[in-house]
Amino acid sequence: MKIGCPTEIKPQEFRVGMTPNAAMEAVAHGHDVIIQSGAGKGAGFEDADYVAAGAAIIGTAEEIFATADMIVKVKEPQAGERKMLREGQLLFTYLHLAPDPAQTKDLLASGCTAIAYETVTDERGGLPLLAPMSEVAGRLAPQVGAWTLQKANGGRGVLMGGVPGVGPAKVLVLGGGVVGAHAAKIAAGMGADVTVLDRSLPRLRYLDDVFGGQFRNGYSSAGLLAEHLTQADMVIGAVLIPGAEAPKLVRREHFASMKPGSVLVDVAIDQGGCFETSHATTHADPIYDVDGIMHYCVANMPGAVARTSTIALGNATMPFMLALADKGWKQACADDPHLLNGLNVHAGQLTYYAVGEALGIDV
Ligand code: NAD
Repeated sequence: MKIGCPTEIKPQEFRVGMTPNAAMEAVAHGHDVIIQSGAGKGAGFEDADYVAAGAAIIGTAEEIFATADMIVKVKEPQAGERKMLREGQLLFTYLHLAPDPAQTKDLLASGCTAIAYETVTDERGGLPLLAPMSEVAGRLAPQVGAWTLQKANGGRGVLMGGVPGVGPAKVLVLGGGVVGAHAAKIAAGMGADVTVLDRSLPRLRYLDDVFGGQFRNGYSSAGLLAEHLTQADMVIGAVLIPGAEAPKLVRREHFASMKPGSVLVDVAIDQGGCFETSHATTHADPIYDVDGIMHYCVANMPGAVARTSTIALGNATMPFMLALADKGWKQACADDPHLLNGLNVHAGQLTYYAVGEALGIDV
């Protein structure tokens, strides 16, 4: 199979769909890999790295889309890219079709077969191609929060780990899933005093078993949350109710009882945010102040560490990409029901129920 990887063109996107290592594996499996010149640059990969891996470098996205059997990307195809997709061509990338009728219409019109990273599942009911980005965002959250806590950035001027004779920052993490567990682990590693609140008792048991000595946990109730908010220097929002907007757990009226200059990092902003006062920000202008409480609400946090994110995503997508290339999508999906769950569009037909329901299109 000929596998093509174009340069990402969505603004502020520095990741790339295939790493040189992924290209090398595909070549070893007998496939041709074509990479658009400069595609890996934002993630620190040069054209020469891909050539060394056995791939060919191609000048334009048009040539990639015109000849590749499978297109491997990161973000959903933009309008210009969608025009280049062909009948029978396989597209493997993040799609997020439910809130995007224009993209859905174009993919249906193209006749391509589209497998979405975000709906591929695993045997434990998880989303293996979303998890690496949650890991990245979770680990980044205390880092950006610590920066925001610095006085010059509007924060309280508190050092995460304190120093001998001065206590550490108090960090409250709301939601102890993938993002929350990774955030808590890193914040505790920086020396902060960390508490995680979650609504799932099995999850709290897991966190207690695995991280009992590193951070505390509690059952997320309005009363306990209000109590912890009065003490927190930093609050990291990491809740998720699948398929729903994030619940607004922290409200503006809470701010009066919080310490001035404390920091809210709303990782759940891509689902609307779990603080009432959150609105999405960008890496170029990431923080703002409401009533003396600093907010960091960047919706694509992994983009800040494009190299780590690209490699993490590539590690997760590689086995699926190889199965699709080796067997063709029909056989690969017949052999793996979790990959089949990724199938969103085929030959002008929507094939993912939740997207059809959201957009009012027959599946
Ligand atoms: P997850 O499903 O692994 O974890 C969510 C946790 O929230 C679960 O443990 C759940 O029990 C808990 N929860 C639900 N309601 C709660 C409540 N009222 N109080 C406390 N806990 C509650 O999800 P995840 O992968 O950790 O993702 C968390 C959020 O981060 C999602 O909205 C995801 O889209 C977002 N995210 C954002 C970025 C970014 O760049 N901003 C990157 C990755 C993920």
